[in-house]
Amino acid sequence: MARTHILGFPRIGARRELKFALEAFWRGEADDDTLRRTCTELRHRHWQMQRDACLGHITAGDFALYDHVLDHCVLFGALPPRFGFDPRALTRAQYFELARGNAKQPAMEMTKWFDTNYHYLVPELSAESCFAGGVEWFLDDVKDALALGSPVKPVLIGPITYLWLSKSAPGFDRLSLLPSLVTAYERVLRQLHALGVEWVQLDEPALSTELAEQWVNAYEIAYPALARTGINLMLATYFGSGSEYAARLVRLPVRGFHIDLVRSPEQQEIWRALLPEHAVLSAGIVDGRNVWRTDLRRALNLLRPLHDALGERLWIAPSCSLLHVPVSLEHERQLDAEVRPCLAFASEKLHELDVLARALNEGEASVAEAFTASDAAQEARRASRRVVNEVVRERIAGVTSAMAERRSVYAERIGKQRQALQLPPIPTTTIGSFPQTQAVRQARAAYKRREITAVTYLQRIRSEIEQAVSRQENVGLDVLVHGEAERNDMVEYFAENLWGYMITENGWVQSYGSRCVKPPIIYGDIYRPEPITVDTIRYAQSLTSKPMKGMLTGPVTMLQWSFVRDDQPRGATALQLALAIRDEVEDLEKAGIRVIQIDEPALREGLPLQRGEWEQYLSWAVHAFKLTAAVVRDETQIHTHMCYAEFNDILPAIAALDADVITIETSRSNMELLDAFGAFNYPNDIGPGVYDIHSPRVPTSDDMVRLLHRAAQVIPIERLWVNPDCGLKTRGWPETERALRNMVNAAHQLRAELGLVTTQE
Ligand code: GLN
Ligand code: ZN
Repeated sequence: MARTHILGFPRIGARRELKFALEAFWRGEADDDTLRRTCTELRHRHWQMQRDACLGHITAGDFALYDHVLDHCVLFGALPPRFGFDPRALTRAQYFELARGNAKQPAMEMTKWFDTNYHYLVPELSAESCFAGGVEWFLDDVKDALALGSPVKPVLIGPITYLWLSKSAPGFDRLSLLPSLVTAYERVLRQLHALGVEWVQLDEPALSTELAEQWVNAYEIAYPALARTGINLMLATYFGSGSEYAARLVRLPVRGFHIDLVRSPEQQEIWRALLPEHAVLSAGIVDGRNVWRTDLRRALNLLRPLHDALGERLWIAPSCSLLHVPVSLEHERQLDAEVRPCLAFASEKLHELDVLARALNEGEASVAEAFTASDAAQEARRASRRVVNEVVRERIAGVTSAMAERRSVYAERIGKQRQALQLPPIPTTTIGSFPQTQAVRQARAAYKRREITAVTYLQRIRSEIEQAVSRQENVGLDVLVHGEAERNDMVEYFAENLWGYMITENGWVQSYGSRCVKPPIIYGDIYRPEPITVDTIRYAQSLTSKPMKGMLTGPVTMLQWSFVRDDQPRGATALQLALAIRDEVEDLEKAGIRVIQIDEPALREGLPLQRGEWEQYLSWAVHAFKLTAAVVRDETQIHTHMCYAEFNDILPAIAALDADVITIETSRSNMELLDAFGAFNYPNDIGPGVYDIHSPRVPTSDDMVRLLHRAAQVIPIERLWVNPDCGLKTRGWPETERALRNMVNAAHQLRAELGLVTTQE
C-alpha cells in the first residue's frame, strides 16, 4: 500500500486569516488569546483537510506564527544575543521583535528561501551560540495534532540545512557548532518519540545546491546520532536533485528519503537503484511550486514502476511543501471557466495524492472518474486556442539576434541622447512609483466593485499624475515619472492587460510574516492586444517639458513573479513576454516618449540553485531583456532598475543588458555594491541609490553628497545619475518631497563643486 503525505501546508489561510490576525495583534487591536485562537483554528482546519484526503500521515510543526526558520531558533533557544531575551521565557511580543525589530535592535535579517519568493529570518550564530532549549511551541503543536488520533509526522529543518542557512561573522566555521546542535535535535527527537511519534521529516534542501565537501561530511556526522533516538527519519530533499549525493546519503541510518520528481524526474532511477532494503522512498510527484492540476496519467506511469519495485515502501507526496501555492480554488469565483479545471491549489493537491495512491493500491478503475477528469483537463489545455496563439508562434519563429541589438553601441548612443534630452550633468530622477495614497487605493477598489465609472477612475488617476508631476517640477528633478498611481502591483497591472495571463482573487502566497503576494498565472502564449501604458504616459508627458520616463516591467521580472506554464521552458515564456513588452516600448517611443525604463528587480532571483545552470539562464534572460529594449532609436534612452539582491556575481550579465542607464539600490549596503560596479568597470550610465526608501528617515543633502562623493570615486562623473534606491510607493508625500528636495540639492552641490554648473541653475 503506497502511503501519502505532504511536506508542509500553507499557514496563511484561504482568506489570509493569519495575516489579518497578526496585523490586528501588532496594532494592539487583538490580544494574545485571539491570535492564538486563530492559529489553532487554522492548524486544525488544515489537519482536517489532510484527514479528509485520507493522507497516511498528517504533517505537524510546519505552522509558524511568522517564519518557520525563526521557530527553530526559538525551539533550540538559539536567539540572537543582541536582543537580550531569555530563550526559555520568550513571549509572543518578543518573538515578533526578533522578526520585526524594536526600538533598540534591528530585526533579524531576512533572505530568500532557496529559489522561492518566501523569505526566512536568518539565524545569527557565533562561537557563543548554544542550543540548550527555548520555548516548546513546536511540541505543543505536535501534541495538538496527535490528539486528533491520526498518525502525525512532525517536520523540522534538518540540522545541516539549518546551519547552512545561518549566518556568522566572517571566518567563523558554523560547522563547529554541529555537535551541540545535534544534541539539541536529539533532545527534540526524543521528546517526540516519547509522545508516540514514529516518523519525523527532516528537510535538507541544502542538498539541491552544490555543497562543499565538509558540508556533505556533516550529514555523516549528524544523522547517525539522530537515528539513535529510535525515531524513523525521513530525509527530505527538494527544489532540485539530491542524486549527486545519493550514494552517500543512502548509507545514512535513516528510514526514508523524499525526492523532488517534478524538478528532477530523472533522479528516480538512481534512487531506486541505491535505495536500501529497509528504506522508504517518498516520491514528490505533485508540483508544490506551481498551480497546475497534475497530469494523473503521467504521474501514475512514473509511479507504477516504483510501486512495483517498492510496494509499501513507496510514499507519494508533493515535490516540496505546499507553502508556495495558494490554499484553495474554492474561493475563486471569477476564474475563466476554461482554465479553472486545469488548476490545483494546495487543497486540491491533497486530493490528487489520494487519487494516485488509490490508483496504485486498488487499481485505476477505483478512481476512474478522477482520471477521466484529469485526462480531459490535459487535453483541453493542449488544444485550447487560449493556450496556443499562432500569431505569437509565428512572431517567435521570426525573432533574429539582430532584433536584440541596438543600432549603435552605447558610446555613440549616449552622445545622441545627451544632445536630444539636454539634461544637466549628474541628472536626477526617481525609480517610478510615488506614494500610493489612501484616495488612490479607495478609488481602485471602488472601480473594481463598479461603484465608480471608468471615466471617474481615469480622472482620479490623472489628478494623481498631475500632482506628481507638479511636485517633481517644484522639487527640480530632471527626468520625471508619472508615479504609477494606476498600478496595484508592477506585475499584476501588466498581467491584467496581456492575453495568456489570468488573475486570481485569492491566490495569495506568503512572502514573509504577514506579507503575501498574489502571482498572476501564465496559462497561454503571451500577446499584447493593445497598448497598455501609452495613454497614461503620453498624458503625463503632456504636463511637462522635462522628459517623462515610460515605465515598464521587464520580461524576466514578469516571469519570475508569476506562476508559469509547465508545458514549455521558462525561457520560451520569457521570450513571448519580451515581444509583448517590446511592442509597448515601440509604441511609447512613437508617442514621443524619450526615456523608457524597463524594471528588472527579479533578474537575480531567477538564478538556478546550481551554479552550473547559471550561464544558460543568464543567456536567455539577457536576450529577453535586450529584445524588449532594442527596438528603439539611438536617441531614445533605455533605463533599467534593480534592487535588494546580491548583484556582484552577475555583473557581466547586467552589463550585457546594455541599458543606457541602470539605477540600483546601494545605500543599504553602504554602497558596497557600487564598489563592485566600479571594480568591474561597468561601462554605461549608473545611478546608485542615495536615499534608502525603506526608512521613514529623511536623509539630509549632506548625507547624500557624502554618498555621491563615494560614487564619484568609482564612476566617471559624466556617467553618474542621482536617484533613490527604489520606488516610493510605500512612503508618505511629505517625507518624500523633503527627501527629494535634499537629493536635488545634493546634485546641485556636487555640480557646483566640480564646476559643472549649468545655466538652468
Ligand atoms: N518602478 C517600480 C517602482 O518604482 C520598481 C519597483 C521595484 O524595483 N521593485 O515601484
Ligand atoms: Zn527597486
